Amino acid sequence: KTMRDRRIHESGKYMFSVGVYLLISLLLVTCSTQSSGDLSQQELVQARSKVLLISFDGFRADYLSSEHTPFLQELSKNGARSEGLIPVFPSKTFPNHYAIAVGLYPENNGIIGNSMVDTVMGKSYSLGDREQVENPNWYEGEPIWNTAEKQGVRAGTMFWVGSEAPIQDMRPTHWKSYDGTLPDSARIDMVLAWLGSDSSSEVDFATVYFSFLDSQGHRYGTDAPQTIKALQRVDTLMSYLMQQLASKGLDQETNIVLVSDHGMHNVSRERVVRLDSFIDIDRVRWISGSPSVTLNIDPSYRMQAYQELRKAQENGAPFNVYMKQDIPERFRYKNHDRTPDLLLLANLGYTITTTDRLDSRPNFPSGGAHGYDPTHPEMHAVFMAIGPDIVPGSVLPPFEVVHVYELLTHLLGIAPAPNDGNLETFEGILYD
Ligand code: AMP
Ligand code: ZN
Ligand code: ZN
Repeated sequence: KTMRDRRIHESGKYMFSVGVYLLISLLLVTCSTQSSGDLSQQELVQARSKVLLISFDGFRADYLSSEHTPFLQELSKNGARSEGLIPVFPSKTFPNHYAIAVGLYPENNGIIGNSMVDTVMGKSYSLGDREQVENPNWYEGEPIWNTAEKQGVRAGTMFWVGSEAPIQDMRPTHWKSYDGTLPDSARIDMVLAWLGSDSSSEVDFATVYFSFLDSQGHRYGTDAPQTIKALQRVDTLMSYLMQQLASKGLDQETNIVLVSDHGMHNVSRERVVRLDSFIDIDRVRWISGSPSVTLNIDPSYRMQAYQELRKAQENGAPFNVYMKQDIPERFRYKNHDRTPDLLLLANLGYTITTTDRLDSRPNFPSGGAHGYDPTHPEMHAVFMAIGPDIVPGSVLPPFEVVHVYELLTHLLGIAPAPNDGNLETFEGILYD
């Protein structure tokens, strides 16, 4: 059976059954069933599903609840979800969004941090540096939008890490320079317009990204009323998105893949490490901040700095220190030129800082942070997939973000570029 056949016969299973949307959906199912009868067999074979990839930054796996996200909770029952999406190391925004886009671990995709230094290129990268964020030389591997466009499937990105750079000399059909001030509903409206057939350059694959939940998690912590309010806002936005998708007649042909990049964990002033109490911080180059502190250190001081920190660790300091060559293989992080000389990784909930910083900011640190070892469940992100090609009702065990690329290519019916993921991860949620 073709995908669309299957969609028609099983359409009842994945309807979005919340409140008034049920009625809207029923009407649309009826319409699409009738009109699809006009399609020839050839057209049925060629029909492909659309895919909308959505990310809410900092949506921890266990944020999903009937109390704060009732719409998403119901929606997940009509599709599949995972107990947790395991981030790549470090559990930060740029490494994870890019790993999702290319299906490669950081040591294979080049984006090893939100901030990084490439001594060969002689350049530093940080997420606020537009010139470097748009410089394709940082990005290795083939992002999903390129895989799609190369195979005649048009793509549109309403923000995704990497999509602003002409990687492999290509760009998605539609893309936007990151603008954190663009209203969230405008992002949704634009992406749905791209997916709709009224667009002159209709796309079959689109991404949309939202940062507000991560921002509130950082500012106020995971359980604060402000963060819960942000979570409820995620729920409202998703309900708006599904309603709009249905009203445009796109719900029966679109698979929604909802992800996040990492979780969040509360920090406090009671759990801090002052780096200057162990080493001479004027003799190190601090590349990225807490909780995964990366340092480049002149060879004349490197071993001494390492030994001081190692001694502290053995005496119970709440971190792990590694020389580049000793960073655990499981992080899939150490085999890259950009990997720093020294990694200092705080234990869950701890912040690594300096005496100066602590003294000058009496409320620091507060709220939440991420970047810790990805094996902590507190770092795990949400994953959900709903749509015509997803078997409803299944719950997958935790899996790593690098697998998502394989799922996206499968749903789009395109051949994946070489990657670190495995489609078997999704066996239980896909039709044979
Ligand atoms: P993090 O603390 O690692 O979760 O970083 C989150 C921040 O990344 C968000 O607050 C966004 O402002 C920022 N961000 C996300 N995507 C982009 C982008 N494409 N360009 C620049 N900044 C971005
Ligand atoms: Zn993030
Ligand atoms: Zn964040």
